[in-house]
Amino acid sequence: TIGMLAIDANGNISGACTTSGMGYKMAGRVGDSPIIGAGLFVDNEIGGATATGMGEEVVRTVGSFLIVELMRQGKSPQEACEEGVKRIMEKNKGRDDFQIGFIAVNKKGETGSYCIHPGFTYRSYSEVGHINNPSESYIKS
Ligand code: ASP
Repeated sequence: TIGMLAIDANGNISGACTTSGMGYKMAGRVGDSPIIGAGLFVDNEIGGATATGMGEEVVRTVGSFLIVELMRQGKSPQEACEEGVKRIMEKNKGRDDFQIGFIAVNKKGETGSYCIHPGFTYRSYSEVGHINNPSESYIKS
């Protein structure tokens, strides 16, 4: 899954995600990505979140909605992503055969990401001040 979140100069948030689904999936399987609240959720008052990994577990926890609700309750995007992954892993004690990752942004433009498995990369790009300030980007995994 590729998930994208953006916040513009006026603080408006948008998001999108795309996926090829799971390998060897059953015909007709619907993962989390096309379900708003699961693979992607944006509340322009609070922030946005998107998920990658085992879609069934993200659907079960309404994962991206959960991340936004945790931010609504005061958590930072980073704290919310960590809490969301933790909740899913707690419901799957002893399992280590799937990955879950979230990225999030809040209304202040703060970002967060979390995944406890390798192979999850997250790129944050910020262009503040447009022409006057140089663009800056970094990779956090
Ligand atoms: N979340 C996707 C799905 O379950 C899979 C992925 O992240 O690659 O369909």
